[in-house]
Amino acid sequence: MKKAKFTQIFLVGLLALSVVNSGNIVNAASNVISNTTSKAANNVNVPSKITKQLLTGDKFNSKTVKVFIEPNNPAGIQQDIQLAVKDWSQATNHVKFEIVHDRNVANVRFTTGQISYFRNALTFQDQTTPNGNHVLIDRAVVKIDPQNFDQTKVSNFGIRVASHELGHVLGLADVKNTNLKYSTIMWYHDPAVGITQNDINAINYLY
Ligand SMILES: [Zn+2]
Repeated sequence: MKKAKFTQIFLVGLLALSVVNSGNIVNAASNVISNTTSKAANNVNVPSKITKQLLTGDKFNSKTVKVFIEPNNPAGIQQDIQLAVKDWSQATNHVKFEIVHDRNVANVRFTTGQISYFRNALTFQDQTTPNGNHVLIDRAVVKIDPQNFDQTKVSNFGIRVASHELGHVLGLADVKNTNLKYSTIMWYHDPAVGITQNDINAINYLY
């Protein structure tokens, strides 16, 4: 069972990340990727084995992800987030992504601050609606701990971490199968690749 509020979902980082979910701490990290994507859609009606590993059962309750970046995020990280949003936008046309400048219209908010447990970032399900054994995520908050990132300029690492967290926002799970380290942005440890076709397939299947 998931808690409706502030279930901590993910993390990513240089160090192993951890996910706290309803009291369980799971080591998770993330990495993410490079961008291979095309909007050419893969309409997958039957989920592949990898797709199944990427799904949590939860999903975002909107096909438009409106991202508000708190102005107190360091400049480099703000750029990382913007590029992560762009990468996801280019990856799929099943979900739309936009940066908004009014937090009141956003359904995803990126904030900053220190995070314990050696995590680089965390995604919180800020507001959810029950959906069977799972939830529809109405609103999410992503918190990035700036200490492990280049705060003054964009970095691949920062982009990948932000993309990984957006994957969590959309309902993707951390992947811990070492064989899949280079196959998904949802690898739970330091990012090895960016958004991959497997990630896109999972999103296109889910939405
Ligand atoms: Zn994660």
